[in-house]
Amino acid sequence: MRVQLLAYTRQNPALSPQAVASLGDLATLWKGLGSFPEQMIEFAGRVCYRSTHRMGSAPEFISARVREGHEDIIEHVVATLRFDDTDAPLRWRMMNRHCEVSDLGGGGWVVSGNTRVWLDLFRRGAGLDALPYLHAIAPKVYEEFSGAVQDADLTLPPAKIDPDALQPTQDGPMRVTLLGFTQPLLDDPALLEHHGAATFLFEGISRACTHQLVRHRLASFSQESQRYVDLSRGGWQPVVPKAVANQPEAMAELEGFWRIAEEKYAKLRQLGIRKEDARFLLPNAAETRIVTTMNFAAWGHFLWLRAVDTAAQWEIRTMGQRALAMLYALAPAVFQPQWDVYLERFANP
Ligand SMILES: Cc1cc2nc3c(=O)[nH]c(=O)nc-3n(C[C@H](O)[C@H](O)[C@H](O)COP(=O)(O)OP(=O)(O)OC[C@H]3O[C@@H](n4cnc5c(N)ncnc54)[C@H](O)[C@@H]3O)c2cc1C
Repeated sequence: MRVQLLAYTRQNPALSPQAVASLGDLATLWKGLGSFPEQMIEFAGRVCYRSTHRMGSAPEFISARVREGHEDIIEHVVATLRFDDTDAPLRWRMMNRHCEVSDLGGGGWVVSGNTRVWLDLFRRGAGLDALPYLHAIAPKVYEEFSGAVQDADLTLPPAKIDPDALQPTQDGPMRVTLLGFTQPLLDDPALLEHHGAATFLFEGISRACTHQLVRHRLASFSQESQRYVDLSRGGWQPVVPKAVANQPEAMAELEGFWRIAEEKYAKLRQLGIRKEDARFLLPNAAETRIVTTMNFAAWGHFLWLRAVDTAAQWEIRTMGQRALAMLYALAPAVFQPQWDVYLERFANP
């Protein structure tokens, strides 16, 4: 079997510690230890615990999360490899349905999986020819194989994209940041659709919005936890719909309710109630943030429903449209149909 690395998650070139210095805690991303993929994995984990200020302080952070089963965080890094002279990838797809497998004919296959998929396959003795690449990409994830593997060369051609189109966007409290992406050099858009992937950090959005987002099942999510993060006074901000903000009487009702929710949450905590139970008081308006990864095909479906459909709810639609602009910049051949509809319905109404 011959193996060739085609792509793995790389950093959005528009981001650097300097470029994002004023964007919340985004610059902590580079304080993580190890490779960029590992930094992204740690960042996703620390978004859940609101502990990004501790990036890089615990060398065992990733392996500890994997050991305890908090494994969504290792779903945000994707690697694509080509395999020749084999039909094994079909079997891998049957072993783990979360990998993408495309038949190139003549015994050639393109296989994409996130680092969790590859870990699962390796543990079951499958796909081991890819291990030297995956171990080089994210050594902490594959620590259990260290010693038995020599890292492969990860050199790839530079990505072909305009960083200006990939700048984070801000709409009121909502910030949309493309953290990383894979862009395998596959000429056929149908192949690219299934093997390209992108990871976004969505911030300043309501739980009402993320509840819609997480209904999309062909995706990976790491969201700030209301079980582990104390949301007492000042711990959360509400997201205010424009329709409410524009009506002083409605706004007063909403503000009154938030104040009560805040007070009662703090009271329950004082009474010794755990965070996981005190959160029952929190409203849908509570601001949250979430790291989200999908392949281009799943993003495409999401965009049809949530970004370019006039029936989509305003908050997720705004978020989807900001993501669409960046995805279109990454892969115009894949996202042209959604982009055209967006322009027709929203940019030139
Ligand atoms: C305007 C609007 C209103 C909505 N209203 C409601 C509502 O009132 N109540 C409510 O509960 N939900 C509602 N939803 C959510 C909606 O039903 C879906 O759950 C959500 O949009 C996820 O999309 P999806 O299921 O098409 O695809 P995803 O989960 O994103 O999956 C992508 C594709 O994979 C395939 N797929 C994934 N999983 C399966 C599976 N188990 N079986 C078969 N095929 C699968 C399908 O082809 C699917 O299109 C609404 C969505 C929209 C856009």
